[in-house]
Amino acid sequence: MELNQKLINLVPYEPIKGEYKVRLDANESCFDLPDQLKKKILENIGEISFNRYPDCMADITLEAFADLYDLNKDYVTAGNGSDELISIITSCFFEKDDVIVTMPFDFSMYSFYGSMYELNVKVFDKNEDLSIDVDKLIDFCNENKAKALIFSNPCNPTSLGLDKNEVRKIIKSLNCFVILDEAYMDFWDQSLLSEIEDFENCIILKTCSKAIGLAGIRMGFAVAKEKITTALRAAKSPYNTDSISQVIAALVLKEKEYIKEKCNILIQNTQELYKGILEIQNKYSVFEKIYLTRTNFVFIKTDKDELIYDYMLKKSIAIRKFKGFLRINAGKEEENKELLQVLELCVHQV
Ligand SMILES: *Cc1c(COP(=O)(O)O)cnc(C)c1O
Repeated sequence: MELNQKLINLVPYEPIKGEYKVRLDANESCFDLPDQLKKKILENIGEISFNRYPDCMADITLEAFADLYDLNKDYVTAGNGSDELISIITSCFFEKDDVIVTMPFDFSMYSFYGSMYELNVKVFDKNEDLSIDVDKLIDFCNENKAKALIFSNPCNPTSLGLDKNEVRKIIKSLNCFVILDEAYMDFWDQSLLSEIEDFENCIILKTCSKAIGLAGIRMGFAVAKEKITTALRAAKSPYNTDSISQVIAALVLKEKEYIKEKCNILIQNTQELYKGILEIQNKYSVFEKIYLTRTNFVFIKTDKDELIYDYMLKKSIAIRKFKGFLRINAGKEEENKELLQVLELCVHQV
């Protein structure tokens, strides 16, 4: 028995291990659900028939999601996190060696699943400042006969965003699939969800893991017109989302005011975090660049990434490092304050 080449050097995904006082490494919402809502959830879970399979289509959840974003629920497919939807799309919509285009830095799962399903993952290089030249991108996809372009907007981890007229131009100019991951769009106002009707070739991905504050239950959505949605629903495993997650997501997605309020606080806290980091930069000039943020996190270019990361961890603050970069998501006000204090102490020393 031999493992194939794809698996032989693969290691399980490992988030930071251990207990940390402040967790700003995974872009999660810092707000757990209020007790009252948790109580309501528990009561509703009590009504579930646990001996029965869940609803294949997660209808109650689709309804709440479609209502929140003012969509037609016939255009929505629920997934076990948007991660699962990326996996279904890359495995079922393409064939071996089909070209899909990614733009690193971007969400690592795109190229992970692309390679896993033996697609030809071609990389389009962003500009030096991590912005995207849209015309060059369109040419690149055409020249490479791409079957799909996949990217996040706004982008994880760069925190930058493309205006919707630019994304619209990309979708309209390409004949291939455009998989547009709007995981962080609740923090910005350039969503194309309301225009999905106009796009035959576009799949927009959404998740409950970030602004909605439900990373723990695994619920994501793909939004696309009938032809794509029918294929997606047929290709997914029938019972991909469980009864408990369906109930929880449906209840939380109905709390429009709550979601909006938390979202606004997260946007505010991100701006405060960004300003705080800029102030540190003004004093010590240690970073090469701090990127504008359209998300709930701040992305920093620095060759001190390892040093700063290790220092923060020792002070029980978890952030995320990439080679030559750091990503820090906004937490609660007091968490941000603590982060900024420790970060200043740290850069003062390096
Ligand atoms: C966090 C994130 C997701 C969410 O994935 P889930 O599986 O729904 O938790 C999707 N796309 C991007 C770009 C992300 O950063």
